[in-house]
Amino acid sequence: MKYDLLIKDGTVVDPSQGLNAVRDVALDLGKVAAVGDSIPADSAREVLDARGLIVTPGLIDLHVHSYWGASTYGIDPDVSNLAMGVTTALDAGSAGALTFPAFRRHTIDKADTRLYALLNISAMGMVSPKIGELEDLRWADVALAVESGRKNRDRVLGIKARLGRHLLGESSDVEALKRAIEAAEGFDGFVMIHVGASPSPLPKLMSMLRPGDVVTHSFHGFEDGVLEGSGAVVEGMKEAQARGVVIDLGHGAGGFSFKAAEKALANGVVPDTISTDIHNTSIEGPVYDFATTLTKLMHLGMSLEEVVKRSTETPARVMGLGDRLGMLKVGAEGDVTVLRVEDGRFKLVDRLSPLTKLGSAKWEPGTTVEASKRLVHVHTIKGGAVYRPWMK
Ligand SMILES: [Zn+2]
Repeated sequence: MKYDLLIKDGTVVDPSQGLNAVRDVALDLGKVAAVGDSIPADSAREVLDARGLIVTPGLIDLHVHSYWGASTYGIDPDVSNLAMGVTTALDAGSAGALTFPAFRRHTIDKADTRLYALLNISAMGMVSPKIGELEDLRWADVALAVESGRKNRDRVLGIKARLGRHLLGESSDVEALKRAIEAAEGFDGFVMIHVGASPSPLPKLMSMLRPGDVVTHSFHGFEDGVLEGSGAVVEGMKEAQARGVVIDLGHGAGGFSFKAAEKALANGVVPDTISTDIHNTSIEGPVYDFATTLTKLMHLGMSLEEVVKRSTETPARVMGLGDRLGMLKVGAEGDVTVLRVEDGRFKLVDRLSPLTKLGSAKWEPGTTVEASKRLVHVHTIKGGAVYRPWMK
């Protein structure tokens, strides 16, 4: 009997088992079958030479938008995630209870990417770029969300609430969040809140979150962010994180600032998870792909192990899938990402230009930095097979 695939001689970085060493990884029947010092090349039907490359558990992106054709930011998940090394992704609120059935049938069930979703607390989801989905709170229907969440519990992991002024209009963010939590409790899911130009101060919103709930766009750099005007971290941030609230990056077109992230890191607020918020106005920059987002955190001083942990093991745990994803232990799903670390001079930007706007928030042009290393995606292996969309 032969293994289906052997990834040979790569440096395996798997924080879930404290591994950072040259190893061979064998995959069979869609699962991780063996990890060892020297697994013979003739023991597998296909051998992938990973010498000089980094081999990680399949990357997991906790914040994407995949509802192509129906939702404001939607893009094809296989193009924007799987083809770029992300084997599992969480769509963060593109669909609500009323628009989820089509999302499930036409995208989630057809995608090669392992796609999960958070239902938007607004039953319409994210339909219009001009009219916020929470401007009329009649859309924030708890009963509808619970029904849809329960019915689709194998793919729906919780509720998303976008709590920005431009999405709420005159509605109360506190009321919207209350409903989001109530809905999530109805099917034992978690809540992710989008912060940035929110009517209520961040500490107020964070105090409402439960352990396992997520704050995304944590380092956005606008007012009401993680930092006071003085540069100090806002009250309650570290306490919330200490009691289990997840601090997520959520890069997006305007959700990440080098300056804010640098200060937050210096003040001891480290993101638990790194996600891209990749969508149709961030994919052509400033996000580009997951490897570029990870590169930005390495530029800010995180080690390769630290960024891999925050893009594999931790998001798997947040999603409740840590028993089979986000690791390369024998028996886990055969999802692997192969990356290359390149040395050189690479320009990285956090925001493109004032052309993109976030409501009435003050929009400053982005900061460009020059990094001396970057991560580049080389191969995606999902369910034990190399992802080659050009092959049958
Ligand atoms: Zn988003």
